[in-house]
Amino acid sequence: MADETWIFEYVRQFEREEYLLPNTWIVVRIDGRGFHKYVSFTNLCKNPIRLAPLWLQARISNHYGFVKPNDIRALDLMNAAAQHVLHVLHDIMISYGHSDEYSFVFHKSCTLFERRSAKIASTVVSTFTAAYIHLWPRYFAEPAPTGTFLARHSNGGGSTNVIAIEGNPQSQETSREKADLAISHLPTFDARCISYPSNHNLKDYLSWRQADCHINNLYNTTFWALVLKGGMSNTEAEEFLKGTLSSDKNEILWSRYGINYNNEKEIFKKGSVVLREYKMLEPTEAARRIDIDVASDLPKEDELSKTKREKIRKARQKADVVVRHIDIIKDDFWQQRPWLLTGQPGSSV
Ligand SMILES: [Mg+2]
Repeated sequence: MADETWIFEYVRQFEREEYLLPNTWIVVRIDGRGFHKYVSFTNLCKNPIRLAPLWLQARISNHYGFVKPNDIRALDLMNAAAQHVLHVLHDIMISYGHSDEYSFVFHKSCTLFERRSAKIASTVVSTFTAAYIHLWPRYFAEPAPTGTFLARHSNGGGSTNVIAIEGNPQSQETSREKADLAISHLPTFDARCISYPSNHNLKDYLSWRQADCHINNLYNTTFWALVLKGGMSNTEAEEFLKGTLSSDKNEILWSRYGINYNNEKEIFKKGSVVLREYKMLEPTEAARRIDIDVASDLPKEDELSKTKREKIRKARQKADVVVRHIDIIKDDFWQQRPWLLTGQPGSSV
């Protein structure tokens, strides 16, 4: 039988590969499946066939009692899983995440899997998910952070979920019951690859994600203040916030609940950047003169000698992979960390 495998081998011809354009930045964005999406009764009525399954099943965040609007345990777990991905895949220069999404940026010189899109996306998302599941007990064995309590709250779908509200230590037992992962609600992620031809496009991509973090967080902070502190239903809060600007939301938070949005934690407002840490350049004139749109690149990997390649790999392996909650939209961020764009490891801290 073994000699006759050639009879079947023609099926290989059905396989199709997408090779990502050479010399472009590869971004893999992963996104949690069914973590937060909230379906209001109004939307359900508009599109019952598509939305009924979502409406009936508790979201991951509700099932495990994530603190609203932000659960620091869930965010720290996302960051730890992202750090693991950077430890395993040396071609990733930087990653950025907030909420249930993460973007991983491979250097344009990367030749991993001959730049086959499906291989790269599936490796990133499975490495991330494996770490997320493995590390889950470390972050969720503890009850919701101090100063929060769990309360019964209708998710608008007829069922009641346990969520944590700031300020009142109560019934943390329920939190422990929910700590173990259930086969019916295993966290999973999807992934896609996008290639960006210029440094400028890549910076704009990451700026877009960080701006999105800010917009979403301001919305969620206000939404959950109206629900949890103001006693509105989810639908009422959604209606109330329709058409409001950022300044209106800031005003609602301050005048109604005495919350100064600027004092919210940086991790909530800015999201998280995961990168290898080297000695940063001082933000002096010399650094500012670096034109980050044309920052020189490493030659393509196949043009590098084997020794040089190995040296770069070892330097990346040795560097600390750190998590920061800082502004990545301003040029300063890139000018102080030239290694992110050049791919040349910097000097150790
Ligand atoms: Mg998402």
